[in-house]
Amino acid sequence: MRIETTAVHAGAEPDPATSSLAPPIHLSTTFEHGPASEELHGYIYVRDKNPTQDRLEKAMSLLEGGEDALVFASGMGASIALLQSLAPGSHVIFPEDVYVHVRVAHREYLPKWGIQSSVVDTQTPENVRRALRPNTKLVWVETPSNPRMNITDIAGVSAVAHEAGALVVVDNTFATPILQRPLEQGADLALHSTTKYCGGHSDAQGGCLVLKKRGPLYDQLFHLRMVLGAVCSPFNSWLVLRGLRTLACRMERHSLNGLAVAQALAGCKNIERVFYPGLASHPGHETATKQMSAFGGMLSILVKGGWSEAVGVASRVKLFQNATSLGGVESLIEHRTSAEGKGSTSPANLLRLSIGLEHKDDLIADLLQALGE
Ligand SMILES: *Cc1c(COP(=O)(O)O)cnc(C)c1O
Repeated sequence: MRIETTAVHAGAEPDPATSSLAPPIHLSTTFEHGPASEELHGYIYVRDKNPTQDRLEKAMSLLEGGEDALVFASGMGASIALLQSLAPGSHVIFPEDVYVHVRVAHREYLPKWGIQSSVVDTQTPENVRRALRPNTKLVWVETPSNPRMNITDIAGVSAVAHEAGALVVVDNTFATPILQRPLEQGADLALHSTTKYCGGHSDAQGGCLVLKKRGPLYDQLFHLRMVLGAVCSPFNSWLVLRGLRTLACRMERHSLNGLAVAQALAGCKNIERVFYPGLASHPGHETATKQMSAFGGMLSILVKGGWSEAVGVASRVKLFQNATSLGGVESLIEHRTSAEGKGSTSPANLLRLSIGLEHKDDLIADLLQALGE
């Protein structure tokens, strides 16, 4: 079946008890069991698993083409669970441009957990090869990256990592399985902040890890989630599952709008650079074309000047809203240096745009007036 059909039907079996087509939300935190804790219907306690979470996990694994998935309370909950599955003494390779709190986590917490890390520019697989050590267990890929929209060759990096016996995780939050399926390209895990496009309406927080193979790592992550407690709530699972039903349609429009905005901005005199992998001028365009079916709704721009010129543009938008996060129906703009705070690696003149589902011409007109074009 094609991905658009999967998005509509995955995990959508009618409720066996009532035949309701819309899935029930099982809010119960506890389930009746036998006198010696025997499971009666496969469930015991909400922190282990829950029927609503199960549906979302089934849908996410079908969409990504994995054997199983685990949903978490947030994208960071999923990220940290994966890092905590590593034994002390392991080594992890991270990309230079990576989601801000993954960077904070590896700087502040990995040393305390006895895990070594290196930061490399993963846009060249050769850099990953050079950084590999005998104890490298995991290579972290984020493509397109947040916020600089760097593109990493998933197949290339996976081949290099696998030669050394390391696993590859791809943060697929920006592309979603509609535009890019990392497990088909060779990665071992796909990671999501489902808070973003999968949920799609800026009203539910969640994270997900999809595993290519259901093996010991799945069991370990399941156990970790249960003990550390970062499990996705039933209601948020339900909202994200509902979001998946329209994901294919939304990503199509996000991508059309994203490309139109990127093309319009590329010609502006007050813009130094536009980072959008759909533009032929983007250094990762060729790789992106190979591994993505369209380029999504995220882009970043460098405004000519510095901090104050960029903040000036953000202060003059009328339709775009100044807010963090991304992937909702509404268009957002954010000065990343301000948002990331101390230790930010984003250029001071960078603005990140999450292009929503409004009419592209209204979005372009708003940006052009804010830029003074
Ligand atoms: C938002 C985001 C995360 C973190 O997800 P939360 O749900 O906010 O915890 C991770 N990776 C990327 C690319 C993100 O945009």
